[in-house]
Amino acid sequence: MPTAHDEPVRYEKQGPVATVTMNRPDYRNAQNSAMTYALDRAFYRAAGDDEVKTVVLAGAGKHFSAGHDIGTPERDAHLPFERRAGLWWDHSDKEGGESRFARESEVYLGMCRRWRELPKPVIASVQGACVAGGLMLAWICDLIVASEDAFFADPVVRMGIPGVEYFAHPWVMPPRIAKEFLYTGDRMSARRAYEVGMVNRVVPREELAEYTRELALRIAGMPRLGLALTKRAVNQAEDLQGLHTGLDSVFGLHHLAHAHNAETASDALGGMDIGAMKKAGS
Ligand code: ZN
Repeated sequence: MPTAHDEPVRYEKQGPVATVTMNRPDYRNAQNSAMTYALDRAFYRAAGDDEVKTVVLAGAGKHFSAGHDIGTPERDAHLPFERRAGLWWDHSDKEGGESRFARESEVYLGMCRRWRELPKPVIASVQGACVAGGLMLAWICDLIVASEDAFFADPVVRMGIPGVEYFAHPWVMPPRIAKEFLYTGDRMSARRAYEVGMVNRVVPREELAEYTRELALRIAGMPRLGLALTKRAVNQAEDLQGLHTGLDSVFGLHHLAHAHNAETASDALGGMDIGAMKKAGS
C-alpha cells in the first residue's frame, strides 16, 4: 500500500475511467504545491489519453481534503514551483503582497481555472472533510458524489478573509445559503449540500467508490466531443452568470484581507494557524 511519502497523487486507469487520487491521507490530503503539480500532471495525462473518457477525483483515507497545507512538515509554500497556469513571475524571491499575489494567482485561482477546463467530465468522490481549499478541488469538478459522512465548510472568514481563493460560493449554492455558510463557518452535511444543489448524489460511505465509478462509466458511453462541448456549454453559461469575473473581483478582496492581516496581525492568515483553526471548531 502506498504511504503518504509516496507520490502525493495516484493515477489509475480502468477502462475509459481515469481515477486521480490525492494521496496524503496522514494529513487529510492537505494540498501543498507538490500535490498541486502532481494533480496537474494527472489531469494533463487524462486529457491527452484518447482511451480516457471520464475522470474521477478522489482522496485517499478518511477525508477528501482538509484544505491547503498550512502546517504539515511537507508544507512548501516558500519554494519555487513550475508555474503552469500563467506567466506571472516566481513568488519565492519576492516579498509581501507581490509574493502572495503571484503565488495564489498560480497555485490556487489559476490552477483551479485550468482544471475546470479539462475537456472531459470530472466527478469528485467526496468523503469526510471537504474544507476550505478542499472545496475548490470539489467545485472545479463537473459532478460531486458525496458519502453520507462527508461535510463541507469554509472557515477562513475566521482569518478575516472572505472565503477561499476560488470564490465560487454564490454560484455553487444559493447566495443566501452562501452567506450563512461563510458567516458561520459551520459544517454543511452531505444531505444539506444535496438539498441546496451543491452535490449530485449522496450514497453510503461503503458504496462511494463503486457508485462514482459506475456513474463515470455510464457517462463514458457518450461521444467524446459531445461531452467536451456540453461541458464547455455549461461552463460558459456559468461564466455568463458572472463566475469568471466574480472570481477575479473577489480575488482582489481576498488579497486586501491578506494584506490587512500582514499589516495589523502576526501574519497574512491573521495569526490563525492549523491549531487555532481546529480549536475554533473547523
Ligand atoms: Zn489566500
